[in-house]
Order: sequence, then C-alpha cells, then structure tokens
Amino acid sequence: MEEGLVAEVGVTSSVGGKPATLLSVVDDARQIIGIDLANSEFRGAVINLRGEIQHHSSEPILERDGKAALALVHKLLEELLALANKPLLGIGIGTPGLMDADHGVVRTAVNLDWQNLPLADILTERYSLPTYIANDGQVAALAEYTFGERRDTENLVVLKVGRGIGSGIIIGGSLYYGDDFGAGEIGHFKVVEGGEPCRCGNFGCLETISSTRAIVRQARMIATSSPQSLLNDLASSPSDVNTETVLSAVTSGDPALENVLNNAGKYLGLSVAGLVSILNIRHVVIAGSAARFGDALVQPLLQEMRRRALSPLAEHTVVTTSSLGTDIVILGAAALVLANELELVR
Ligand SMILES: [Zn+2]
Repeated sequence: MEEGLVAEVGVTSSVGGKPATLLSVVDDARQIIGIDLANSEFRGAVINLRGEIQHHSSEPILERDGKAALALVHKLLEELLALANKPLLGIGIGTPGLMDADHGVVRTAVNLDWQNLPLADILTERYSLPTYIANDGQVAALAEYTFGERRDTENLVVLKVGRGIGSGIIIGGSLYYGDDFGAGEIGHFKVVEGGEPCRCGNFGCLETISSTRAIVRQARMIATSSPQSLLNDLASSPSDVNTETVLSAVTSGDPALENVLNNAGKYLGLSVAGLVSILNIRHVVIAGSAARFGDALVQPLLQEMRRRALSPLAEHTVVTTSSLGTDIVILGAAALVLANELELVR
C-alpha cells in the first residue's frame, strides 16, 4: 500500500469477528514492457498490471544476424520506454529457442543467430530495469494461466501452434522449465519416420506436419496441382496462399484442405496423448495462429488423443483454443515479470 501497488476496496460482511479488509491490485500503479521475438517481426507492448495493453510497437526484421537482432531489440525497447507513462516494473521477453531462464541467457536461438547471449544482463545494465526471458511457448502458457479464461485448476498445458510449435507446462501454478529449460519443446519431436525435412536438420518433426508453415506448404501444393481448388479463387497464385487464405477455404469446406487439417490435428493429438499420459493435466489449450482453425484442428486432435491415451485420462482431458490471440507471447512476457517481481500469477 505504501508503494501504491494495492488499495483497499471494501470490507467483507462479518460472519462473526472483525470484518476483513479487501485489497486489490491498482491496475495502473505500474507498467510492464512485454516483447515477442518469435515472429517475422519483433513486437512489443506497454501493459498495465491487469494485462491490459496500452501501447503497441513493432519493428520488421531486415537482417538475419545476431548483432542486428540485438540492435533491433534495443530500438523496439526504446520506442516502448518512450510510450510508457507510469513507473515500470520490468521487461519481459518471450523468444524462440532454448533459454536459461534463471540467468536470463539465450543458449541458442537459431533464427535470431544467438548463442549463449546474456540478454537479461545486457538489458538490465542498459535500461536499469529487471529483465526476464523465457521460451515463447512457455510464456504463452503463463499468459493463458494469468490472463486467459479462468479455470479451476493450477495445472495447464498450452500448445503454441504457429509457424513453429512449442508448448508450456504450468504445474501447481508455476511454469515448469525442466532440467535444461526445455520442457514443452515438442515441435521437434519426430512423429513421422522418413518425413519432410525440418529446419532443425531432422526429418518428420511435428512442425513439418502441424505448424501453420507446414499447413500453408501443403495448401500451396494443392493449389498448384488442383486448378479447381477454392484456394485459387482466394489467392492470385499458389505462392500467395497464406494462413488467411487457408482459413477462408477451410471455412467454405474445401475437402482437400480438410485432409491437411485432419492430418495436422492427428499428429498434434498424438503429441497431446503423450503429454496427457505423462502429466495427467486435464486442461490443454491450443494457442498461436493455428488456434483460429478451431474445430477443424481440435476435433481430429481429440480423436487421436482418445485413441492413444488411457481412456479414463483422455476422457477427463478438455482441449480448447485460447482467446488471447496474437498478443499471447507479449502478455506472457508481462506475466513473467509479474510472477517474478510481485509473485502475482493470477
Ligand atoms: Zn525439427
């Protein structure tokens, strides 16, 4: 209360004894900067303590080298710092790759050309603000747990299915990182023997079938081989087919695309069956751009998960899609700061 973070909002009606004073977080007492480095552009926002986004900013990625990527993080941060108009609680960053979240070190982020980069220290030193980083799938889980739909549970699995696939696991109200901070890295779990080449160097990873990148790749092949496909009415050429066009074609019931989504959902279901069997967590949430496919992806996922996991476990598992949309990593990065600085998780 002295620092203005919480305020009295009333008293409970007495049930004998002195009525309790109710305290509530003051939504705008502080602001947090949340950053998402997992997309084709760097995006960030200034967010209040309730998870309400107050300012957005983004920077296109023009060069693919580590130094340029770091300079772009500085540029984006400086834009956001200028937009903040309340005292700042800290900076949170969600990035692809493997992190040492305890020390704020990016161990490896291939698409950003970073190896053993002490990102949190670099930013804390430059901006004098506490900085926290975690993998984008992991912060997505924290976002869903902190700011998403209320669920009567402290356990949650979130699969972030976009251009890549990752997941985050919340156990007992805390993010579970694993021994090497890699818990939930299922995108490069090999699901097909002799499958398509993956950007990790292996073949047949989950990402090569169920990511939006893979779905779009298969849709472009359909557009090329079937001139009558609806996709050709929606895009001017097969190479212009994107997630948006696929979504429209699926909504209109293109049967060729139904197969692509059934297959994508099936392999997600195989992976979810593994997670459910090992963790017995009942709530599984699909986030990321593929969440927009809704039932077209979730139904085949459920079917495969039920076919593979022990039925009492599978029956209790609820699979839904996230309502947090494209800002989920930004919100999760802010939630990471809330959890670390104020021990607030929801
Ligand atoms: Zn891979």
